[in-house]
Amino acid sequence: MIQTFPTDKFRTIDTPFYYYDCDLLRETLHVIEEEASKHKGYIVHYAVKANANKKVLNLISQTGMGADCVSGGEIQRCLECGFPSEKIVYAGVGKADWEINLGLDNDIFCFNVESEEELEIINKLAQKRGKIASVCLRINPEVGAHTHANITTGLAENKFGIALRYVPSIISAALEITHINLIGLHFHIGSQIMEMQDFQALCARINDIQDDLEKRGVKVENINVGGGLGIDYNDPEGHPIPDFQSYFNTFAKHLKLRKEQKVHFELGRSVVGQMGSLITRTLYVKQGKSRQFAIVDAGMSDLLRPALYQAHHRIVNLSNTDDLQSYDVVGPICESSDVFAKEVSLPTVHRGDLLAIRSAGAYGESMASQYNCRKLPTGYMSDEL
Ligand SMILES: *Cc1c(COP(=O)(O)O)cnc(C)c1O
Repeated sequence: MIQTFPTDKFRTIDTPFYYYDCDLLRETLHVIEEEASKHKGYIVHYAVKANANKKVLNLISQTGMGADCVSGGEIQRCLECGFPSEKIVYAGVGKADWEINLGLDNDIFCFNVESEEELEIINKLAQKRGKIASVCLRINPEVGAHTHANITTGLAENKFGIALRYVPSIISAALEITHINLIGLHFHIGSQIMEMQDFQALCARINDIQDDLEKRGVKVENINVGGGLGIDYNDPEGHPIPDFQSYFNTFAKHLKLRKEQKVHFELGRSVVGQMGSLITRTLYVKQGKSRQFAIVDAGMSDLLRPALYQAHHRIVNLSNTDDLQSYDVVGPICESSDVFAKEVSLPTVHRGDLLAIRSAGAYGESMASQYNCRKLPTGYMSDEL
């Protein structure tokens, strides 16, 4: 499936903006559904923080997928966009009382709890409302992932989850207190993970934890393995849809399930990453002492990933096919890190040329800011253009 861009239409739209390929999104969702359904008890949630655009959420909720939220705002947005509350899971190290109450009032599927103190607060708030909160304990599995340090979450030094040594005592607490129903265990080791061995290591750790809990007479209905499957930023044309088959097979092969246990997945980037591009107009082409700069009207306020994670995004010149030249593609923002790519080869860039910054569907629009008093970028669906 080769992505094509309606460049003539783009010329009539104010830049910068996000462009979302609905056909690719639908095809990706279809593949996920098909591959997950080959395994008994596999349930997929979309991790909303990757892209919370309402039109994107509406399209995803139609497939029947659940939602993984990390804030009260995301829960509200998901309810507005057609996700049923009983398919919403809610994680986060710092849930405020109003966010917990929002989850309780809407009877969400579960809270992924990250500390004993949080467990007690949820219990108290649930009691006040005469409710029983369903809870998974988020465990820090101390499993590394071959990805950028800023998006590793499953190491002992990371703030996420309950440290392994405290798991037995917190489970005992959860089983004892009155307004908590312990329904499962939750894990998430990081993002942009390309090596299946990392997920295999997670499975091994979960197996150990389950064996240990079984000895203590504890059994849970749900195992949530989080998200993290990566996408091919170098070759979005060659790999528009991630290898979901290998991903689910890795868990099928290595995760030992108890009878009737369900496995939950929280996929974000792999669902929406490749369907999005940031479309930007070239403002100036400037010769530096040793480099040539293509200065575009999109900046790190629109797409933060290169500045935040040294992330690489492929860039395409949509306006011409002239001979290749080398450019640093940079934004207008007053920060030296406002650079999309260094020394990339592009067909000769002229003022006015439209560039597509590819693989920008995940953690693009959702991370946009108004730094430098800039406007937030609009997201357009291919269906509406
Ligand atoms: C961010 C996050 C995800 C999604 O991660 P991706 O790498 O986008 O798949 C899943 N679960 C939790 C708890 C998260 O914080």
